[in-house]
Amino acid sequence: MEIEKVRMNIKCDGSGCKNLATYTILNKKFVFDSSIHLCDTCLNELYSIIGKIVVPKNIEPIYKSKGVKNEKN
Ligand SMILES: [Zn+2]
Repeated sequence: MEIEKVRMNIKCDGSGCKNLATYTILNKKFVFDSSIHLCDTCLNELYSIIGKIVVPKNIEPIYKSKGVKNEKN
C-alpha cells in the first residue's frame, strides 16, 4: 500500500463526507488496483481507529545502556 497527496479536486470517499480529499491510499496488493481518497478529517479518524488495534513496534532508544560504569569511584 502507498499513500500520496491528491493533486486534483477529488471528493472524499468517507461516508457522508462532503470535503475534498487530500490523500489517496493506493492498494496494489489485490488482483485489482484500488484506491481510497480521504480528507484530513477522515484520514485522522481512520488513523485513530487503526491505532486501537495496531500498536507500533518498540523503537530502540537512541543510546543504549552498555553497562558503562561511573569511573569516579
Ligand atoms: Zn472526508
